[in-house]
Amino acid sequence: MEYKRILLKVSGESLIGDGNYGIDPKRLQHFANEIKQAREQGLEVAIVIGGGNIYRGVQAEAAGIDRVQGDYMGMLATVINGMALQSALEDAGMYTRLMSGINMEQVCEPFIRRRAIRHLEKGRVVIFGAGTGNPYFTTDSTAALRAIEIQADVVFKGTRVDGVYTADPEKDPTATRYSELSFQEAYEKGLNIMDMTAFTLCMENKLPIIVFNLNEKGSLLRVLKGEAAGTLIR
Ligand code: UDP
Repeated sequence: MEYKRILLKVSGESLIGDGNYGIDPKRLQHFANEIKQAREQGLEVAIVIGGGNIYRGVQAEAAGIDRVQGDYMGMLATVINGMALQSALEDAGMYTRLMSGINMEQVCEPFIRRRAIRHLEKGRVVIFGAGTGNPYFTTDSTAALRAIEIQADVVFKGTRVDGVYTADPEKDPTATRYSELSFQEAYEKGLNIMDMTAFTLCMENKLPIIVFNLNEKGSLLRVLKGEAAGTLIR
């Protein structure tokens, strides 16, 4: 296996599954199975979870809530998702730790970089909740930041499609998938891989990104083994 330590970004929206709000237990189980397969190959796995299924800061302003307040609401939402995912991972027999960018010691550990690395070395799956702990950021940026901090080899960005396409493959049947791109190419083509902050962090720190389909059974392991499609940006 090419990688030893990976950071997986799971969006909050992907937890909705068949419903239209909240957390679908079937999705949690699916993610737990995917992560277990990677762990069984001896991979160290850290996860950043989003909160878009519950709350996003940008949506706050429309509701007359201050943006910063809304962003903190969004960060708390990611902790709720993180707790649900932690539970699912433990049910599947994995050892886990949930670390938060906002201190809430009754619920989870504070994020301490050295401790996070230690957990990973011991084979625990580490979930990073509460984003960066700062408003005006996203969980994509959190994924890039935490990956750099824990010296992950790569960021796996789970999406609904199996990579980055020339156009939206859900709308344009002629769209084709890139198997590999440089950061420069992705930037010049204006491809929407992660938000600019996240993208720049990865580029400046030479952290590769793999966009892959997290909905398909076994895809994480297949991409890790080089057997399935995805798009590598490096
Ligand atoms: N958020 C934030 N700072 C961070 C990470 C997240 O303020 O470092 C807030 C922001 O309001 C965001 C929300 O948390 O909209 C949920 O995260 P995100 O939208 O990234 O979740 P996803 O799209 O992955 O479900």
